[in-house]
Amino acid sequence: MMRSLLAFVFCFGIHLITAQDYHSSSIFAHNDYVQPVPFYVSYSRQVGFIEADVFLYQSQLAVAHTKEEINPNQLLAELYLKPLANYITENHGYPYADHSQSLTLMIDLKTEGVSTLNALVKELNQYPVVLSAQQFYITVSGDVPDPSVWKNYPTYIHFDGRPHINYTDEQLKRVHLISTSFQLYSRWNGKGVIPQAERDKLHAVIQQVHAKGKPIRFWATPDFTNAWITLMKMKVDVIGTDDVLALSAFVQKLPASRFQSDQYHEVDQPKKDHSLSRKNPKNIILLIGDGMGLTQLYAGYTANKGRLSIFTIPTIGFSITTSADSYITDSAAGATAMSTGSKTNNRYIGMDTSSRPLATIPEKIRDKGYATALISAGDITDATPAAFYAHQPERSFSEAIANDFMASNVDILIGGGIKSFTQRADKRNLFQELTKKGYTVSGSFSSIDTVRSSKFVILDDAAVVSKMKGRGDFLSRSLNKSLNTFTRARKPFFIMAEGAQIDYGGHDNSIAYVAREVMDFDQAVAEAMKFVDHDGETLLIITADHETGGLTLTDGNLSTGFVQGNFSTNDHTAVMVPVFSYGPGADLFKGVYQNTALQQKILQLLTGAKASR
Ligand code: MG
Ligand code: ZN
Repeated sequence: MMRSLLAFVFCFGIHLITAQDYHSSSIFAHNDYVQPVPFYVSYSRQVGFIEADVFLYQSQLAVAHTKEEINPNQLLAELYLKPLANYITENHGYPYADHSQSLTLMIDLKTEGVSTLNALVKELNQYPVVLSAQQFYITVSGDVPDPSVWKNYPTYIHFDGRPHINYTDEQLKRVHLISTSFQLYSRWNGKGVIPQAERDKLHAVIQQVHAKGKPIRFWATPDFTNAWITLMKMKVDVIGTDDVLALSAFVQKLPASRFQSDQYHEVDQPKKDHSLSRKNPKNIILLIGDGMGLTQLYAGYTANKGRLSIFTIPTIGFSITTSADSYITDSAAGATAMSTGSKTNNRYIGMDTSSRPLATIPEKIRDKGYATALISAGDITDATPAAFYAHQPERSFSEAIANDFMASNVDILIGGGIKSFTQRADKRNLFQELTKKGYTVSGSFSSIDTVRSSKFVILDDAAVVSKMKGRGDFLSRSLNKSLNTFTRARKPFFIMAEGAQIDYGGHDNSIAYVAREVMDFDQAVAEAMKFVDHDGETLLIITADHETGGLTLTDGNLSTGFVQGNFSTNDHTAVMVPVFSYGPGADLFKGVYQNTALQQKILQLLTGAKASR
């Protein structure tokens, strides 16, 4: 088997494909000539196979679907051979500028095989540049002559084989790929899963073809996302399509749309059901997963083999995230709603739609002796954390946002974005000014364990890289440090910690990025749940500001941690986001409500102030 595979690689430069490495070479443009522009659409997508149905008509080779549709102006030479010759010349003897990309011109002989193939050979001989090209193949299909006479044709002619034919070794060398009708094995329409009996038949023929060292193609397959995923999982090498643009877009996005986790974390069941506790909480931990919708959570759950600490929380609500000026919120308006209880415009930080400052949760509770910590796994001047201490009409005013921190009375600040504090246009060094105010300041996250003060600022950009680039347990550690600090100081507290980069993964349309960030966020959730269980006076609220990416999950495996998804946008979407609440007061967060209600409910619990709506 190995030897024949290698021989195949050597002969044709196409290797048998594993499910992980489908690319445009795997695409078979069925009936290419009916594309909006024959040849060029498929060629521009760098597909591996371009198919043309060819009729011998008045001693010329015409491209058409049926005899009736033959148009003497639609000739193989004009539509395919001439443009190919031009590109091959341009690309120094290769079909594509990327010399590793192969192209097969698949000619389906629609009229009597021997005479049509003879005419084809005669025609091709006028294009020596095409015939001598590397990574380029001419393969005939349809009414191919009997294998016993293949040796009479020039070696540049390859043949489309059939699985039931027993070829001699010599004949097999001329077989480029083996094709068969999907309908012979299955009536599957592409929805859901293939019935097991049909799946077994398909597997058998796929294995039979692979045992000959050849790639397999089915014709008449269902032709949309779920069907493509299924065929790829069954290791069908060449995927036929009538929708070259859709399949090529799908294949192009494949690397970013699949994730196989190799790291998993354990999940504890919650120790107590606090949801019915009538007691008001003394402390609040608010964990915000930026861009974390239900599908992001489920991607993390799948990647972690079907478990998340978040999903062990019994009390669930939904938050409607729309902003004052947009159906779809950004993080600025979303966090302002949660921090101030007011809807505002996108881009506004802690201000109403008329640019008047709104009181944040830390400002509302500071007179009651509360300590506050704000933590982000991104820049601390970014919109989400900023809306808990700053008042600016524009989220990008990061130096003004940093300056607002000076008057905020927030005790602990941990994240990235040090430049807005220490390398400012106004030449002030806010770290020096914070030291005078009694804060311990540090530009190195590694110093966190040595900090003894209960007021400190640690901003370290190198510590807030993505999880994939080695952020480690930054979020959990920062949360634990804040919990320990406030416990030691015996102060009631409010902590907001943000999983900032779930959103970045959504903007990047990377399922790996999203899933890894959700798994990291879940580990911070687990730490918070442990504290809630131990402390008994703390309410944990977990939510998001909005969903990012319009993620749908198209495949996954709960026992292996594989997950595949499709993003419909690289921006935020409008869908409401979940709210999980754990600890005394959790029941208040059941139901469906505006994101502004989160602030009102939190203040109701901490200050006794009744929510106004
Ligand atoms: Mg954010
Ligand atoms: Zn975003």
